Amino acid sequence: MLDHLSYTAPEPKVIAGAKGDWELVIGLEVHAQVASNAKLFSGASTEFGAEPNSNVSFVDAAMPGMLPVINEFCVAQAVRTGLGLKAAINLVSAFDRKNYFYPDLPQGYQISQLYHPIVGEGEIIVDMAPGVARRVRIERIHLEQDAGKSIHDMDPALSFVDLNRTGVALMEIVSRPDIRGPEEAAAYVAKLRQIMRYLGTCDGNMQNGNLRADVNVSVCKPGDYERYQETQDFSHLGTRCEIKNMNSLRFIQAAIEYEARRQIAILEDGGIIVQETRLYDPDKGETRSMRSKEEAHDYRYFPDPDLLPLEIEQAWVDDIAASMPELPDEKKARFVQALGMSEYDAGVLTAEVENADFYEAVAQGRDGKQAANWVINELFGRLNKEGLGIGDSPVSAVQLGGVLDLIASGEISGKMAKDLFEIVWTEGGDPAEIAAARGMKQVTDLGAIEAAVDEIIAANPAQVEKAKANPKLAGWFTGQVLKATGGKANPAAVNELVAQKLGL
Ligand code: ADP
Ligand code: MG
Repeated sequence: MLDHLSYTAPEPKVIAGAKGDWELVIGLEVHAQVASNAKLFSGASTEFGAEPNSNVSFVDAAMPGMLPVINEFCVAQAVRTGLGLKAAINLVSAFDRKNYFYPDLPQGYQISQLYHPIVGEGEIIVDMAPGVARRVRIERIHLEQDAGKSIHDMDPALSFVDLNRTGVALMEIVSRPDIRGPEEAAAYVAKLRQIMRYLGTCDGNMQNGNLRADVNVSVCKPGDYERYQETQDFSHLGTRCEIKNMNSLRFIQAAIEYEARRQIAILEDGGIIVQETRLYDPDKGETRSMRSKEEAHDYRYFPDPDLLPLEIEQAWVDDIAASMPELPDEKKARFVQALGMSEYDAGVLTAEVENADFYEAVAQGRDGKQAANWVINELFGRLNKEGLGIGDSPVSAVQLGGVLDLIASGEISGKMAKDLFEIVWTEGGDPAEIAAARGMKQVTDLGAIEAAVDEIIAANPAQVEKAKANPKLAGWFTGQVLKATGGKANPAAVNELVAQKLGL
């Protein structure tokens, strides 16, 4: 198990203003699309990129009299995510209507969970460097519907509405304001994405809007945050602004940096921060006001009368808990502790769930450290060079395992293995068959090696005398034997024989 006490907290980011130092305080609301074939309250498909308005049921289109029916799988996904964040699961939760008008929202309200979310308090450990990590508290996760999409750039005069996304299940994951800098915010989103991808609860494809974040930023003076932590009293913190709908880790960082400096400039000028919602403009690299608190909608939340409170049973939650996969922190710790891997290598192998799965398939029943070296150096190195992901790897885990088996049995040398890897990469095929067909076999037949050693010793009497005087020179004979046998002799076996024959 991961030792949660074995890291130290990173220093918060400090920005030097004209009149002194400032610290950043950040809290994130992440919208993660639930990985599910069907929507939250209808059986319509969630397939991405489908023909516009082809995945719309009567419920999604809000036809009069249609009733929502909760999708059990989506509920299970939220519970699984909660368990993955070591969070409290609420056996009773409830859905509320958040009322507003928008052309891509035919119901006239979004069904969400304001008052009674399905998941309560949890945590994420955000690694910043080996041994340095930030614990970020999760406040809650609730289930809600996504809205449709308005399309304004297809026609100069008309706007279009695509309801395919309407009603797709989202998890809104709300953090406490425990994030203390732009890099930490990006690392937090990356870690959350990693955990959900391990769990299979969200694909985490940020380009497709699968995972997007509202970023809350405020600034305070050194010491204020510690006072907030001691008392949980928000009045020690500065007023926050919320930057909506960010779907790039790079832009999240740039937006936070810009926003913090904007607030510091206002405060140092004697001004006050007005709580508001802002948008980030990546072209200009700045945030601008979208609406202030006074203009904020009154959503008239109320419990959705079409849906009973959601009651789940502890036994059902326990079943989900029993089927949880190993999570990245635990997997990484196991690689370090059980296999003696470096933190860095373990981090590389566990970064993406597909990488970890590939590595484990190669390492299964083999030398774990050797498998790690091959996967990281040969395979990942080669994939990076070609700009490929693990999913496109021309060498499968079975094939790479086959190469390692030939090394382990002494049939091929490390050098031959690299050549063989290259052949499998470009031509495919079974490594053992390729090695046999091409005569790639190191000679471990001692008789054959012995004959070669004898021959070279007999032909070089002067060199023999030198080696006897200085045993370091015996390596010359090994080199000659390897050359004579076309690089096929097992170097360790040759070394031993040479030493024995020379009486060293
Ligand atoms: P609302 O309901 O208005 O969105 P919440 O209390 O739910 O407000 O907070 C939304 C997010 O803002 C949370 O992620 C929280 O951690 C964050 N947050 C709250 N106060 C601050 C602050 N002073 N600075 C930065 N983030 C904050
Ligand atoms: Mg909010």
